[in-house]
Amino acid sequence: MSCLFCRIVAGEVPATKVYEDDALVAFRDIAPAAPFHVLIVPREHISTLNDFEPAHDALVGRMVRTAAALAKEHGYHERGYRTVFNCNREAGQSVYHVHLHVLAGRSLAWPPG
Ligand code: AMP
Repeated sequence: MSCLFCRIVAGEVPATKVYEDDALVAFRDIAPAAPFHVLIVPREHISTLNDFEPAHDALVGRMVRTAAALAKEHGYHERGYRTVFNCNREAGQSVYHVHLHVLAGRSLAWPPG
C-alpha cells in the first residue's frame, strides 16, 4: 500500500488520532499550521476533491460535520476555525488521498497565500 493516508488509516504509520468511525479517521497534522490542525480523511482511498461522486455525498457531509464537531470538542467553534480542501498542484495538495484540514487557535489571514 503506497498511499500515506491509507497507511495511517490502516494503522501501519503512526498518527495522533483524535477521532475515528466506520468511514473516517481524523488525526493531528504532523506539521501544524495552527495551534489546532487536524486532517479528516475517509477510510476509502479517494485521490482529490475532483473524485467525489454523488455516492459520496453522505461521506462528504460526515467529513464537514465532523470538522464542526471536532472544533466544538476542542473549544474553537465560537472563536472560529477554518476548513480547507486543497485540490491539486496550484492549491498545494501534497498527499493524494483527499483530506479536510481543520485549523484553529490563531487569527487566520484571508486571502490565503
Ligand atoms: P495537503 O498539502 O493539503 O495535501 O496536506 C497534506 C498535509 O499532510 C500537510 O499539512 C502535511 O503536514 C500533512 N502530513 C504529511 N505527512 C503526515 C503524517 N505522516 N502525519 C500527519 N500529517 C501528515
